[in-house]
Amino acid sequence: MPAFDVAAVRRDFPILGTSVRGRPLVYLDNAATSQKPLAVIRRLERYYAQENANVHRGVHLLSEQATAAYESARGTVAAFLGLKDARGCVFVRGATEGINLVAESWGRAHLRAGDEILLTHLEHHANIVPWQVAAERAGARVVVAPVTPRGEVDLPAFRSLLSPRTRIAAFSHVSNALGTVNPAAEMTRLAKAAGAAVLIDGCQAAAHFKVDVPALGCDFYVFSGHKTFGPTGIGVLWGRPELLDAMPPYQSGGDMIRKVDFAGTTFREAPERFEAGTPDISGAIGLAAALDYFMPLQAAAHAHEQELLAAATERLKGVKGLTIVGQAPEKVAVLSFTLEGAHPHDVGTLLDADGVAIRTGHHCCMPLMKSFGLAGTARASFAFYNTLEEVEVLARSLERVRKMTA
Ligand code: PMP
Repeated sequence: MPAFDVAAVRRDFPILGTSVRGRPLVYLDNAATSQKPLAVIRRLERYYAQENANVHRGVHLLSEQATAAYESARGTVAAFLGLKDARGCVFVRGATEGINLVAESWGRAHLRAGDEILLTHLEHHANIVPWQVAAERAGARVVVAPVTPRGEVDLPAFRSLLSPRTRIAAFSHVSNALGTVNPAAEMTRLAKAAGAAVLIDGCQAAAHFKVDVPALGCDFYVFSGHKTFGPTGIGVLWGRPELLDAMPPYQSGGDMIRKVDFAGTTFREAPERFEAGTPDISGAIGLAAALDYFMPLQAAAHAHEQELLAAATERLKGVKGLTIVGQAPEKVAVLSFTLEGAHPHDVGTLLDADGVAIRTGHHCCMPLMKSFGLAGTARASFAFYNTLEEVEVLARSLERVRKMTA
């Protein structure tokens, strides 16, 4: 593997060369959203400056080209997920919409009174609330696997909560709040053996390591473009095509129909079945540009991030009064922590004055925070363009906060 040239990579991200509050930006809020490389910015500009047209059914050249680029983006997404067939890749607004689509559409077809939906305590609200809504509609029940004090899903408990009543297990590949990498293939195997369908929320995995959907064996996989170096407003739901084809439409209108008649309308198969109306054409094309940029870097980027994680963990352990929350052996480069005597929001505000952008609060994981007895944490989340020098800036800034608040 060639040495990872982080300085060269950083030049691809113009925002990383900017300053905030008079200090060089140290962007450590990548779990909330990632920054965008020039490859994406320029692709969007070219699309709108030279290629813009609506997709599907157009007979003029621009429309044909826009359609080809949009469908080619679907192929790029399939390759990114390790899939040979792009048909199960549905463009959605993001992970939230993807999960809502499955909970609503698949839920309507499959959930009945007395059924159970198995989640874990690690889930983001996006993978909790749609299931609560679907459960309430069907008279089903949400069941929750606990986490260990290290922040891992309690696998024996997960296994024991599976039963013939479990209709679906929905869990994150990686925890956004703690960075824990779940044993997603093993959890999928257990759930499938119990006869349940499986949805994996890959929002925090996709930007950190190679995702191989066929190897996971799940039925649905979702991720958001904006956390994977692409634009906001675009994301992907992958579903097994045969499952998607049997699900009722989520939204209806143009593009998703085969034939419309006031006597009755018929719908197309996936993926168009779930892409009603004009899609986010530029978003899909921008996402493909992001994935084309990222895929060749992926392995080296992962190794570099693991180095950052190890260094940051060691360095932050040395900051007096700091406690790392989430110490699973398998993590992506996310560090959640509390600082004795300082509210997480104050930590965030004081770090901001040093140009360090982190996130504070419950990270859309209120049940997880509650299970740790915390209202929130401060979270530094890294991407491959972060550096060891930035780890040091973070640590020094925290030491300054510690002195001010102790
Ligand atoms: N799941 C996880 C694990 C997340 O981290 C997030 C975003 N923080 C979401 C789902 C929701 O993603 P989006 O807001 O892009 O729909």
